[in-house]
Amino acid sequence: MQKEIQEKCGNILKSLRITNGDKFHLKDIAPGDTAGLDDKAEARALTARAGEWLAAEGEKLYAQDRWSVLIMFQAMDAAGKDGTVKHVLSGMNPQATHVTSFKAPSAEELDHDFLWRCSKSLPERGRIGVFNRSWYEEVLVVRIHEALLQKQKLPKSLISKDIWKERLEDIAAYERYLARNGTVILKFFLHVSKDEQKKRFMERLDEPEKNWKFAPSDIAERAHFDEYMGAYEHAIRATAAPWAPWYVIPADKKWFTRLAVSAAIVKALDDLNLAYPEVAPEQREAFAKARASLEAE
Ligand code: ATP
Ligand code: MG
Repeated sequence: MQKEIQEKCGNILKSLRITNGDKFHLKDIAPGDTAGLDDKAEARALTARAGEWLAAEGEKLYAQDRWSVLIMFQAMDAAGKDGTVKHVLSGMNPQATHVTSFKAPSAEELDHDFLWRCSKSLPERGRIGVFNRSWYEEVLVVRIHEALLQKQKLPKSLISKDIWKERLEDIAAYERYLARNGTVILKFFLHVSKDEQKKRFMERLDEPEKNWKFAPSDIAERAHFDEYMGAYEHAIRATAAPWAPWYVIPADKKWFTRLAVSAAIVKALDDLNLAYPEVAPEQREAFAKARASLEAE
């Protein structure tokens, strides 16, 4: 099955998968792009099949207990993070997956280095961990609102003009370290346009069952939209690597977002060639004895 997804999505993923930031420009990826696909129903069916395949591979990942998979989602408000997480993980074994959402840090979290709270939530071997926002907030929201940086209780002498570059270096180095320890890292930026964001905010205001999704602070952040795009571009350029690729996913069409995200996760798990652990010869003997004893009951 994954072959079908691979074939259909291979080409679109190629331009969305960033493993070297040197030549990356955000403007090269349009939020409304659907890579030539226009059949929504077909895309949804493909996404569903990808979900089934992922569920089966997740079982092997869990049984093998070697790799862990860390999937990070970053986006502007209303880009569809929550819905995408829900869709992508819907078929997975709940015991083998864990979603962590990172909001404004607590007093305890501010008393530690900025990676600390995320480190505590990293997936164990055999598990899939999803970060809804991540350490990248430290070079996005904190960069745009410098008052947040002041709250972080850093010694003054360490807050230099290079702090964002330094943080990006530290993030890149930490991701390299995690990859070397068996963590498969996938980073998704759901790239929504300012126009589509406005439309979705309007829906949240107009439709009673969507009201709860709206926060007045969303409008304040929207005013910084362009600054955020600059910070995202810088972050992606500085931290894209073959062992920690960024996927910049056009997010104006939800059906496309979900298909592209599923396809990227399918690719990552497919590359691992997962298999159930093999039974050792001495275990086989034990199995034979167990069978004999059951049969003798
Ligand atoms: P949704 O709006 O879809 O429910 P969300 O992820 O936007 O989901 P919110 O509770 O609205 O959740 O927002 C969380 C807020 O916390 C975001 O504005 C984010 O930028 C902020 N945040 C996350 N990490 C940090 C951080 N390290 N420092 C300061 N603010 C942070
Ligand atoms: Mg929000």
